[in-house]
Amino acid sequence: MEARSLLEVNGRRYRWLREPLVVVCVDGCERAYIDEAVRAGVAPWFARTLKQGSAFVADCVVPSFTNPNNLSIVTGAPPAVHGICGNYFYDRDSGREVMMNDPKYLRAGTILAAFARAGASVAVVTAKDKLRALLGHGLDGACFSAEKADDAELALAGMARPSVYSAELSEFVFAAGARLLETRRPDLMYLSTTDYVQHKAAPGAPAANAFYAMIDGYLARLEAAGAAIALTADHGMNDKHGADGSPNVIYLQDAMDEWLGAGAARVILPITDPYVRHHGALGSFATAYLPEGADAAQLAARVAALPGIELALERLDACGRFELPEDRLGELVLVSRRDTVIGTSRSRHDLSGLDAPLRSHGGVSEQKVPLIFNRKIEGLAPGRRLRNFDAFDLALNHAEKKGPGSN
Ligand SMILES: [Zn+2]
Repeated sequence: MEARSLLEVNGRRYRWLREPLVVVCVDGCERAYIDEAVRAGVAPWFARTLKQGSAFVADCVVPSFTNPNNLSIVTGAPPAVHGICGNYFYDRDSGREVMMNDPKYLRAGTILAAFARAGASVAVVTAKDKLRALLGHGLDGACFSAEKADDAELALAGMARPSVYSAELSEFVFAAGARLLETRRPDLMYLSTTDYVQHKAAPGAPAANAFYAMIDGYLARLEAAGAAIALTADHGMNDKHGADGSPNVIYLQDAMDEWLGAGAARVILPITDPYVRHHGALGSFATAYLPEGADAAQLAARVAALPGIELALERLDACGRFELPEDRLGELVLVSRRDTVIGTSRSRHDLSGLDAPLRSHGGVSEQKVPLIFNRKIEGLAPGRRLRNFDAFDLALNHAEKKGPGSN
């Protein structure tokens, strides 16, 4: 690839690629998962990179959900700019709950598409297909998911088709990514996994350590093939259950029905997606659309008093604080505490598919995520608040070319 001038995307400038760059989003990667795997001696790449590269703690976007954060990472911008603030929003005009995973809801171009347009070869591999269309929007390059991989892509990864509820769905992402780098050597790759394992296994649990050992092996392979690696997460993950293993749920639609009359308000859980088996559509973030004439401030105060609620904000306050698009949220934005989730009505959540005590995300309590580079990062302004969507900025604008320990 030839050197080019700065590339501007969504108001930020990026230096041209000097070596192959792989940006990895490990879904639901609470930092403790990495530390426990290192402690158990199963993650030598992480152990070395934490010492010889650069490791930071960054803030993800709230709602700490998968799509808003993946889109923030690849646009370098918050949801107020790119528009994706969850899996669902409520369209008042049509009276329907609308899935936001269609690229028509995306309001900003991606860094990936911009580099591809400027001449870089770019590849994207995701676990679930729900992200593929958004991440690949406007992108001229390889873009496929483990979930819907065709025969050639399965052969590339050297794997049989993985189940959508499995650790292998994420392994496919790394296996395909490593093979792509070794054979076609794209200038820029974005790899995004799924949090199936993290929803079930806490840091240090055997299944979690095995998962991070798997990731560690592929990262070492990517590095050996000459890649600069930037690794971050879309969100953290916490236990959301009591000592007896049953989930701590605030059924917010039931509360609103009691206060305002049945169905007068509409509670939307933006975590809801076609794959709810591992979290029962329960996360720590909700938005509520209120009926005409309702007193939002008074209702916010009422929700705030419910045990387990961390924040009950009016829309503009929430959109300012979390950099969210004002037209895709209801009048209230509700965030529950670290150990609690928000549901709609008790009768609408089928928790029979939860075969392990509930772990989930969505709130401020899952906002801290790792931001790890296998190159030394230099020249950051002192006291700068780092975000997961600074991954491209740090990797391209602040990394020294070769770190110790790289080849
Ligand atoms: Zn996620």
